[in-house]
Amino acid sequence: MTIYAANKPQLPAAITSGQALLEVHDIAVVYDDAMQAISDVSLRVPAGTITSLVGANGAGKTTTLRAISNLLIALRGRVTAGRICFDGQDVARLRPSQLVRQGLVQVLEGRHCFPHLTVEENLLTGATARGSTPRESREDLQRVYRIFPRLRERRSSRSGLTSGGEQQMVAIGRALMTRPRLLILDEPSMGLAPLVVRDIFEVLRALNAKEGLSILIAEQNSTLALRYADHIVVVENGRDVLAGSAKDIRENHNLERFYLGEAALTLADPDTKIDPSGSAGISTHGE
Ligand code: ATP
Repeated sequence: MTIYAANKPQLPAAITSGQALLEVHDIAVVYDDAMQAISDVSLRVPAGTITSLVGANGAGKTTTLRAISNLLIALRGRVTAGRICFDGQDVARLRPSQLVRQGLVQVLEGRHCFPHLTVEENLLTGATARGSTPRESREDLQRVYRIFPRLRERRSSRSGLTSGGEQQMVAIGRALMTRPRLLILDEPSMGLAPLVVRDIFEVLRALNAKEGLSILIAEQNSTLALRYADHIVVVENGRDVLAGSAKDIRENHNLERFYLGEAALTLADPDTKIDPSGSAGISTHGE
C-alpha cells in the first residue's frame, strides 16, 4: 500500500515502478486564469487495471479527467504545472479527437447523448469519431448490442426519450464504438438507481476482466469504487492525499474521513510522519 501526505515526498517504488498506460504527474489546473481548481494531483493507470479517482464534491475529479482528455480549453481552463502521458505520449500535444483515435476516450459526467438522435445513431457517432469503416461500424454495433442487450431493443428510440440508465449505456456504448484502450468515466453512477448502477459496473468489470480494457473512473461513491477498482486515488481540495490498492485501503482506512476533511487536518499535523518504506502507510509521531 502507498500512502502519502499533501506535501508529497518521493512516491515509493510500488506506485512508480513499471510503465503505466496513463501517467499523471503533479498537475495543477487553473480556470479563467484565476480559479485554482487543482494544485497537485498525480495518478497512474497500469494497463489492464481499473483505477478509481475518489473524492467529495468539488475535490477536483472532473477537472483531472478533463485535463487527461485535453478538454480544458473549451472551459477556459489550462494545466499550469505537471505532465500527463498516455501510452508514453504527452497529451498536451494531442487534440481530444486525436486522443480518441489513439484509444483514450471519456464518458462525460451527465451522460451526454444527442437527445434527438436514435440510440443507434448515437452509437454510430462513436464509429465516426474513430474513423471506422462501415464493416467495422457494423461489427462494433453488434458487439455493443451484445454487451447491452437493452440497447438493441431501444435502437430506434430517440435517446432523449430513454431512461437515465439507458442513456448511460448509450454513452458507454458510444465510447466502446471507438475501440478504446483506456475508458475514462466521470461519475457513471450519478442519479441512477442502485440496480442499474450495479449492472453498469458489472459490465465494466467484465470488459476489464475478459478484454483487458483499462479503466479510470471518477466516483464520489467510495463503496462502489472500493468494490470494483484495483487501485484507488483519493483527491481532496485539489490534491491527491491517499493512493493504494483497493484491498489495502478497504482493510486499513475509513475513506469517509476524507470526505469530512479530517484527512487534510491529520496530514497537515506536523507530528504526522510518512513511513519512508511506503509499506506501512502513515505513522504518527511517538508510535
Ligand atoms: P463534482 O463531483 O461536484 O463534479 P469534482 O471533484 O469533479 O466535483 P471539479 O468539478 O473538478 O470537482 O471542481 C474542482 C474545483 O474547480 C471546484 O472548486 C469547482 O468549483 C471548480 N470548477 C470546476 N469547473 C469549473 C469551471 N468550468 N470554471 C471555474 N471553476 C470550475
